[in-house]
Amino acid sequence: MRVLYVEDEKFLADAVKHNLEKQGIDVDHAADGEEGLNKAVSGIYDCIILDIMLPKLSGIEILERVREKKIPTPVIMLSALSEVEDKVRGLDSGADDYLAKPFKTAELVARINALLRRPAAVKDETLKFGDLVFDENQKTLNGEALTAKEAGIISELIKANGRLIPKEYLLSKIWGGEAYGEDNYIEVYMSRLRKTMRKIGTKVQIKTSRGLGYKIVEG
Ligand code: CA
Repeated sequence: MRVLYVEDEKFLADAVKHNLEKQGIDVDHAADGEEGLNKAVSGIYDCIILDIMLPKLSGIEILERVREKKIPTPVIMLSALSEVEDKVRGLDSGADDYLAKPFKTAELVARINALLRRPAAVKDETLKFGDLVFDENQKTLNGEALTAKEAGIISELIKANGRLIPKEYLLSKIWGGEAYGEDNYIEVYMSRLRKTMRKIGTKVQIKTSRGLGYKIVEG
């Protein structure tokens, strides 16, 4: 297990690093926000421990940039100010846990272990077909935001991996009972999806087999 620990108080950093290493956890230490961010975005860590008050970049800023880059590593925020405000800001920015200073190393180890037993807040859920990349968490297709229904359709098409999907299947899967007798709905969403795909400039196309269904093909 490898952990990144971003902490500017050298005495505390050395003590915590030493104690974590005694527990069999490898620790890379960064002493300021900039170094912390550079290491954090490498994506090689099982867990990142971020102090909030840091020189150059705050722990919150590091966390926000890590999450912007869709790096799913669990993050524990540390702060000397055990104020609710800090905790809320940290959790809002995508932290998985929060620990107020001073803390016992055993408590930190327990939190790390609890996080690693649990899936990360942002799991990598991407589907690919040709040059298309659909992100199920963000509901984006090659970075373009989709509505929930468009996302549902492209997700089914990519999962079918080029096989024909009957229109009735898509209707029931994505609209449930809502779309009974409203076949035109699906055409509207298909045309929006095609528009988005033209914007992306993908080689993949959605083909309609009249009366049968839809499939994607690499053009
Ligand atoms: Ca600090």
